[in-house]
This record gives sequence, C-alpha cells and structure tokens, in this order.
Amino acid sequence: MSAHILIVEDEARLARFIELELDHEGYTVSRAADGRTGLEMALTGEPDLILLDVMLPGLNGLEVLRRLRNEKDLPVILLTARDSVMDKVSGLDMGANDYITKPFSIEELLARIRAALRTGAAASKKTAALRCGALELDPARHTAAYDGTPVQLTYKEFLLLQTLLENRDIVQTRDMLLEKVWGYDYAGETNVVDVYIRYLRQKLDDPFGVKLIHTVRGVGYVIKGDGA
Ligand code: CA
Repeated sequence: MSAHILIVEDEARLARFIELELDHEGYTVSRAADGRTGLEMALTGEPDLILLDVMLPGLNGLEVLRRLRNEKDLPVILLTARDSVMDKVSGLDMGANDYITKPFSIEELLARIRAALRTGAAASKKTAALRCGALELDPARHTAAYDGTPVQLTYKEFLLLQTLLENRDIVQTRDMLLEKVWGYDYAGETNVVDVYIRYLRQKLDDPFGVKLIHTVRGVGYVIKGDGA
C-alpha cells in the first residue's frame, strides 16, 4: 500500500516537479495550489503526509497548519523560504513534524518524507486514551478533559502533557521533554519547557484546584501515578 502525499504549493513548476519525483518513488500524490483548497483536501482526502508551503495565497501555510491541528494529527513537513527562522520556529510550535528550506535536493526531501511517515505510523498506534485521576487524554482525537470538563490545549501543550502521562512516576528532565516534544533540532529557547508547564498549570491546576504536575527541583517535572 503506497502512502498518499498531499502537496500544498502555489509555485506550479515546483509542485509539478515534486509530484513527478514522488510519483516515480511510488507514492500516491495529490496537489493543491492555495491554502484553503489544501486544508479542504487535507481534511477530506485522507492523506498520510502533507508537504505544506508557508507562503501561500488564501490561507498561509501556518494558518492551514493551525486549523488542521484542531482536527487531525498527521505528519506535516513545512516548505519554508531561506532565512525565515520565525516560520520554522512557529511552524514547529504549531505542530509541524519537520521543515525543509527551499531550495532543497529531492534526496533530502525524500529522506525527510520517509522519516516523517515512520513517525506518523508509530504515533497512530498509540491511540488508547490516557487516564490519571480525573484527567483524561485521548491522543487519537486530540482531546483532553478533567472530570468530564473539556480542556482546550494547543498541539505542543497536548504533546507535553501526553509525554508526562506516558511516563507517570518517572521524572522527566527538561532535555528529555525538549527532545520528545519539540524534536532534536529545536532551535528556540531552552526555557520553552518551563513556559509550557506554566501554560498547562494555568489550564489544569488553577481552574480545577489540583496539583497535577510536580516540579522536581533541579531535575525536571513529573506527574504522579494517582494524579495527586
Ligand atoms: Ca509559495
């Protein structure tokens, strides 16, 4: 069964070139030339992976990614212009799995596609809901609830909470969390973990009057087995 790749790219010649190369590799390929069509096809067309240009007419790539992540968890590789560090950082924060800077070699693109597809396959196996006390996390639907009350989490907040829940009672260092949630090549500030822990506490600890995420001073963070 060949993977289906959706290319969302408004530069027709580049899109056509990628399409031919992917087709040659045996992938099923579909194409969209603007953000709105791309989002529609991503939501309805069941692609296994999306190559998403950032600079797009209609909706830009980051906006497509943001809306997509509210609905679906599938691998996304951003195609970014050279030197647009902001796009890369916000793209990864918003849940892109990887990015590749134009101009790129087709070999590099193919290698990243293979890696992202492997990640996606591994992620979709872990679909059982995670529970801890009154907290429930459903990785398949990307929803979280405390005592039945839905909690709105961003993509990275969700991944961070999921990682802590999957490693219950095992203290996670900042480096471990950075690698698991932001990826090995994260280029931003290292205190991003602390910032996101604070976001999670604002959404969980404060409103529900609990202390879910414990700080282990000088080491990292942990969620305890019973959620207390
Ligand atoms: Ca473009």
